[in-house]
Amino acid sequence: MLEVAQILDGNLISTQIKGEVAAHVKELAVQGIRPGLAAVLAGNNPASQIYVRSKVKACEQLGIFSEQITPSESVTTAEMLEVVDALNRRDDIDGILVQLPLPPQVDSKKVLLAVSPQKDVDGFHPLNVGYLSTQRPGLTPCTPAGIIEILRRSGVEIAGREAVVLGRSDIVGKPVAMMLMNLNATVTVCHSRTVDLAAHTRKADILVAAIGKPAMVTPSMVKPGATVIDVGINRVMDKERVREYFSDNRNRMEEFARKGSTLVGDVHPAVAEVAGAITPVPGGVGPLTIAMLMSNTVKAARMRRGLPVT
Ligand code: NDP
Repeated sequence: MLEVAQILDGNLISTQIKGEVAAHVKELAVQGIRPGLAAVLAGNNPASQIYVRSKVKACEQLGIFSEQITPSESVTTAEMLEVVDALNRRDDIDGILVQLPLPPQVDSKKVLLAVSPQKDVDGFHPLNVGYLSTQRPGLTPCTPAGIIEILRRSGVEIAGREAVVLGRSDIVGKPVAMMLMNLNATVTVCHSRTVDLAAHTRKADILVAAIGKPAMVTPSMVKPGATVIDVGINRVMDKERVREYFSDNRNRMEEFARKGSTLVGDVHPAVAEVAGAITPVPGGVGPLTIAMLMSNTVKAARMRRGLPVT
């Protein structure tokens, strides 16, 4: 019989974290403080609208104040800067989230730089990036922080282990590599110019895949017993490919027949037969991103008022 990896349930861990955040919100309420998150959603990107809706819903569930600001598709950089400036000044707003991508005429880097580092709940501001790299307290990006929570709460040892990160984006790859290094893993970062990817991945005790290429990590690239974190979210519509990934998964094939597409990570589902533990897609890293955004909003509220942060 095939060995199958332990499934690291992101929904479960996300629910735990949200429960803890809700308790912290209640504690702050006793002191007359209600954390607040402003989501700036510019334009009409349907995926962004779905993401922002789920973030606002999570705020409602946990007792966090939330507000949506929705500049039009034709918004200019100057107008976006005004929106951010007004939010920076508001005392009832602790976190500012600028949903990306912004419309093409807007200078995203300029807008992200304008967000007060104290309210930068996405952890993208260069000051917070610097705090992470120099191990100072600050706000850290949500998806990488969620990955660390999955590892920590699943009892995966990090110190002294070989960690290989596939992808070097500012949002996932680089910050998660930095976090793993800060936690004393020996970290290798791979990218599109890496020669012989498999030679690196096969050494990994912890393998994080964040490349945006469906099922690219195959069983032969994974060390038996490794912990595999699949960050990728790829919608696949090609029937042959879906059959190749999920031929023995009836639920998935039925879902595909119903919807005409299904989500696949960057890791081939057959890797579950080699890995020791693995995050599913969907239901792995994804749910953690919103949970960590909620956690960051409460953290920002506390830090801004000089309250201790746990
Ligand atoms: P980016 O496109 O910004 O970065 C992709 C990275 O992967 C780049 O560093 C690129 O290298 C590298 N890469 C691309 N192709 C290869 C290859 N063939 N071999 C090795 N490396 C490669 O993506 P993101 O980091 O934003 O996202 C990655 C994935 O994670 C996506 O599927 C995205 O949807 C998902 N995601 C999921 C989230 C969640 O909440 N679960 C949140 C954020 C992202 P190079 O730098 O050389 O171009």
